[in-house]
Amino acid sequence: MFVVTIDRETCEGCGECTESCPAEALAMVDGKAQVVNDECMGCETCVTICPSGSITLQEV
Ligand code: SF4
Ligand code: SF4
Repeated sequence: MFVVTIDRETCEGCGECTESCPAEALAMVDGKAQVVNDECMGCETCVTICPSGSITLQEV
């Protein structure tokens, strides 16, 4: 399975990742992105789109 991690310290709150995730695994919480389920399918869209490099993806 894939585990996506968001660094909320560096997240700029643009919302691009939450809007582009096909699995709806990300949502904005208190103005920053957060992982909200374990449905990540490893597409890397959020990693690529994030302007601040706050998202990392791991296959476990
Ligand atoms: S890698 Fe793809 S499926 Fe996983 S959280 Fe990012 S956009 Fe969503
Ligand atoms: S794309 Fe990056 S900066 Fe924008 S909300 Fe997502 S994690 Fe934060």
